[in-house]
Amino acid sequence: MAINVDASLCPQNHPCPSVNVCPVDALSQSGYAAPTVDNDKCIDCGKCIRYCPMGVFGKNG
Ligand code: SF4
Repeated sequence: MAINVDASLCPQNHPCPSVNVCPVDALSQSGYAAPTVDNDKCIDCGKCIRYCPMGVFGKNG
């Protein structure tokens, strides 16, 4: 499993609420750009999926 980001769903105009809830610091955001996921760190907990109101995060595989 891996987390994927659909940047087309992100309005890219605010701090990503999911970045701060990731327990392993796998998410990063540059400015207000769509966040990125480091799938080498990700433990697949699904928190980012629940915290993003726009449905930007999803599971692969
Ligand atoms: S699934 Fe969990 S560990 Fe992985 S990026 Fe999302 S919040 Fe972080």
